[in-house]
Amino acid sequence: MADNAPDPCLFCRMVSGEVPAPRVAENDVAFVIRDINPRAPLHLLIIPYQHVPTAKDLGSEHGSMLASMFELATEVARAEGVIESGYRLAFNVGDAAGMTIWHLHLHLVGGRPLGPEG
Ligand SMILES: [Zn+2]
Repeated sequence: MADNAPDPCLFCRMVSGEVPAPRVAENDVAFVIRDINPRAPLHLLIIPYQHVPTAKDLGSEHGSMLASMFELATEVARAEGVIESGYRLAFNVGDAAGMTIWHLHLHLVGGRPLGPEG
């Protein structure tokens, strides 16, 4: 590793296989795991293989990656049985949003009625 290279983040270590993480689903740009601290009966994280710190670091060059992440979200929502009942997709950005791992990830939350910000 280069002298000034930052340590890989937790999700990058999952991508490399250094940290084992059971994958609910995956495609060629992202994979899905269950949140270890679920806020609802169903709480999944859609994580791109590419390291992008937060949603505010996204640009037009990430368009196809984002589309694939949303396709994967739809696939797992269908597989987990919430495609008809409804669910929430959310990106947390920064400390006030409770972001703890600075590697872009899309939350899929469902399985119960969700409040306005549930
Ligand atoms: Zn990362």
